[in-house]
Amino acid sequence: MLTYLVSPDDSALDHYPLLGNALAFWRSTIQQRQPFCPACRASFAEEAQPAAFLFATAAIAPTSASVSAFCMACWNDLPPAMIEREATRVLQQVIPGGRFLDPCEARR
Ligand SMILES: [Zn+2]
Repeated sequence: MLTYLVSPDDSALDHYPLLGNALAFWRSTIQQRQPFCPACRASFAEEAQPAAFLFATAAIAPTSASVSAFCMACWNDLPPAMIEREATRVLQQVIPGGRFLDPCEARR
């Protein structure tokens, strides 16, 4: 599985339509799905503003991406270690027991 943590204006979203489309879907279904920030549980259907998106896709031939978002307040205030911890917790719902690998470590 590949993961991406990007800001909404990141140009990577233009280069990877899979992520751009997943984000467009996330935005267009906020009212139905009521997503919330995994760190503080603020609802994006209400006042929270998404500041960073966490995408997860299959490593080989991905056809869809899961999307989670961190709110502006958490993104600005939480230390990177906290963001990573919360992101790991979110991703473990996709892959139980999964964890982030150091890119160098993963290549061995
Ligand atoms: Zn938050």
